[in-house]
Order: sequence, then structure tokens, then C-alpha cells
Amino acid sequence: MREHGLSDTKKSLQTTLIHSDYMAPGGFAAFPTAIHHASTVVFPDVAALRSRNWQDKSAYTYGLHGTPTSFTLEARLAELEEGKHCVLAPSGLAAIALADFALLKSGDDVLIPDNVYSPSRELGNWLGRDFGVTARYYDPLIGAGIAGLIQPNTRLIWTEAPGSVSMEVPDLPAICRAAHDKGVPVALDNTWSAGIALRAFDLGVDIVMQALTKYQSGGSDVLMGALITRDTALHRKLEAAHMRLGYGIGMDDAYLVLRNLPTLKLRFAAHDAGARKVAAWLKARPEIDCVLHPALPDCPGHENWKRDFSGAGGLFSIIFNRRYSEEQTDRFVDSLKLFKIGFSWGGPHSLCVPYRMPAMRSNWPHPGQLVRLNIGLEEPDDLIADLEQALRAL
Ligand SMILES: *Cc1c(COP(=O)(O)O)cnc(C)c1O
Repeated sequence: MREHGLSDTKKSLQTTLIHSDYMAPGGFAAFPTAIHHASTVVFPDVAALRSRNWQDKSAYTYGLHGTPTSFTLEARLAELEEGKHCVLAPSGLAAIALADFALLKSGDDVLIPDNVYSPSRELGNWLGRDFGVTARYYDPLIGAGIAGLIQPNTRLIWTEAPGSVSMEVPDLPAICRAAHDKGVPVALDNTWSAGIALRAFDLGVDIVMQALTKYQSGGSDVLMGALITRDTALHRKLEAAHMRLGYGIGMDDAYLVLRNLPTLKLRFAAHDAGARKVAAWLKARPEIDCVLHPALPDCPGHENWKRDFSGAGGLFSIIFNRRYSEEQTDRFVDSLKLFKIGFSWGGPHSLCVPYRMPAMRSNWPHPGQLVRLNIGLEEPDDLIADLEQALRAL
């Protein structure tokens, strides 16, 4: 057995504090993925330094390009979506921006659904204003009709299934067929399904985006995003932009996502069951005109959900009868006790946010107020009781 503190060559205390001779024994076996922090990666010799390529995932080059912790998370997310490659980004929005900057240049055109996650719309508008890219917004229920919008300079089509406030479920196979006929890749914001309830690549999607901030991390404590692909050439483009933009992620955060992946499917099933129970209860209430939950016929694109999805997320929206003013529905939201007011979703806590839809969407058809609910992991009957008392405050 090697004894501590006995070095072959004598070093000063200060140097010893930096260069220790101790090496932990190999062969440690446990379930958690180790958290490997690094900016500098140490090469055994100059030949290794010269021969390694940052894109080659069989070796390490620099912390920005990954450590065993982030390599493991990338591989596990690719497995989950049945893709081949994955790049990680510091947030879901950063992942969306990464795809845009990787695939679009001045003079190009991008098609974005009109119900898109609103910061993504903000990004599209910025690309239009300052980067010479045209961002055009399409009716999320356009389906095969998207063929008529694709121009020779269209380089990317974004989809989101469903849109995260107004909840329309697009016809993904039809959009993908039309896009591929013209050689345009399709990216999907697949956050709502967590990669559990939708097999995106089987439907023809080329790039799957996940806001890991939501279900994958599951604790309302991490921001992270991912872009997953099957096509290696497409992955190379995303990876090159990732390197050029310097999109590092923290390994402690990667660990938190890895820690919660084993329970993802079970948590998702619980969110799904709770949300359907609450949605069904709300549907029967006279105060509510529409429940925009993809598993209910009220939701535009419900047929697409039935055909393509094997489950539903915990996020849906309700539309109040038009006799209730914004002041009244705000009072409803303020009266909720278990549902907290806040953005994001996918954690154990139920959340709600009122949205002013006419300002967000062109041709919004509903005159009543919209409130979005995220059903957490509380007992659904307790959530229903909370909604019931808040409805009395209307
Ligand atoms: C939250 C969210 C994002 C962005 O994720 P962040 O990590 O918060 O940047 C993108 N798309 C959808 C549908 C989301 O819900």
C-alpha cells in the first residue's frame, strides 16, 4: 500500500498543494455519474495533444467540448429520443438560437409557427431586423399546406408540438414530407412530450430540441437545452456553431439532469394523469368555455395528437367564458393557493400564468381570457379543490 505524503522527489509545501502524488484507486462502482469539472484537460504527451480532435467523442480536449459527465448526458438524451447525436446548451432558448445560427445566414428564410414559444419569436424577429434573415410565421395547423410557403431560400422550418400556450398540435408528418420534398430540415421543440410521448424522428423530424429545464431536470432548479439529431452532417453543423459560440454548460447542472433521468417516465406519467383529471373537471365547469388540452377534442389538432402521441404533458390552457373580465380572471389566479404564479414547468409544483392572447397571436379566435396551467405532482383532488375555491372568487 502506498503511503500518503511520501514523494520520490522533495517538493515545497506550496507545490505539493498543487501537484499531489495521490491517485484514487480505479474500479469504483456506484450508480451516479461522476461530476467531472474541467476547463483544462491534461494530455499525456504532445502526440496526444496534436492528434486529438474536439469533435471526436472518444477523447477529451477542453472543458468546453465536454467531460465524461456531459458526454454521458448527451448520449443518454440521444438514446431517449432515439437519435444519434446531441449537443447541450445553457438553456432551452440557447438551444433554439444555436440551431438558428448554425443553419441560417444572411439572405436565408426560416418558417416559424405562429404559436411558437414567445422568446423564440423574439429571436426570429431579431434575425430579421439585424441579420438579414427573413423569419415568417405560419398557421400551426397548416399541415401539408406549408409546401406553398417554402421558398428557394428557406433553410429551416421550426415546429412546436403543441404550441406552449395556445396548444395547437401540428400535423408533423405532413410538414416533414413537404419540407423534405424541397430539401429543408425540420426542427421540433419537443419539450411538452419530454421525448417520452412522441417519437419525433419516426415522424420525419430532423432536429429535436428539448428544454431540459422542464421535465428532464424536473426540479425547477436547472436551465439547460439540447439539440438531438440522427443525421451526422446536420449534427456537424450544430456542433461547429456550438464551438464557435462557446456554449459551455456547468457539470453540476449536467449531473442534476442525469440524476433525475431515471424517474422521467414515471414523473411524466404522473403529470399526464393529474393533468387529464384536472382538465376533465375544468371542462365540466360552466365558467370555462374551452379546455385546450391536446387529449381533449376542444384542442385544435387533437386528431394529430391522437395519431402521433402516446401520452400528454402536464401543461394545458383554459379559456374562460367571455362574461368574465381580465380583472375577474386575474382575481381567480391570485386566489389560487397550491398553484403558484410563475413561468416554466415540468417540476413538482403546479403553476399558472394568465396570457393576453390578442397581443401574442394574429387572428386569435377566443374572446374569453386564457390562463395556462402546469399540473405538478400534487394530489389531483387537492388541485381541483384549489381551483374550485378560486373559481368562487371570480
Ligand atoms: C421553457 C421552454 C423553452 C426554453 O427553455 P429555457 O431553458 O427556459 O430557455 C423553449 N420551448 C418551450 C416549449 C419551453 O417550454
